[in-house]
Amino acid sequence: MAKGEEQKESSSPSEENRSEEAWKKSLSPEAFRVLRQNGTERPFSSQFHEVGQSGTFHCQGCGTQLFTSEAQFDSGCGWPSFDRPIQSDNVEERLDRTHGMTRVEVRCKSCDGHLGHLFPDGPTDTGNRYCINGVCLQLKNDES
Ligand SMILES: [Zn+2]
Repeated sequence: MAKGEEQKESSSPSEENRSEEAWKKSLSPEAFRVLRQNGTERPFSSQFHEVGQSGTFHCQGCGTQLFTSEAQFDSGCGWPSFDRPIQSDNVEERLDRTHGMTRVEVRCKSCDGHLGHLFPDGPTDTGNRYCINGVCLQLKNDES
């Protein structure tokens, strides 16, 4: 760190540049494991894996709007599935070659948290299936 920058850093650490230690404190152990360590929650373990709740899904890490319930569909795969993000600018898609597979990883663009993967086999007109760990999401009702 350059000397002149020290004061800036300590005055207001931005949400997006939190240390892993700070993330650990602000997230549940499961959310930390998925968002910050590229983990995967157990299938069918999420409160959101079934369609039926309406509102906007925000990033558990930083609160960015990621998906709406209108884009959610029942994929039967055990994870919340969406056919498009709320804004393509809000998510980042990256090639992921871990675990002997080539997949597209989906991350939150604001906090760089791991969200899930994108598969090109969606049943709707977009053809996309964003397979997202529910523990990374928080649902907010539009009405409230
Ligand atoms: Zn985020």
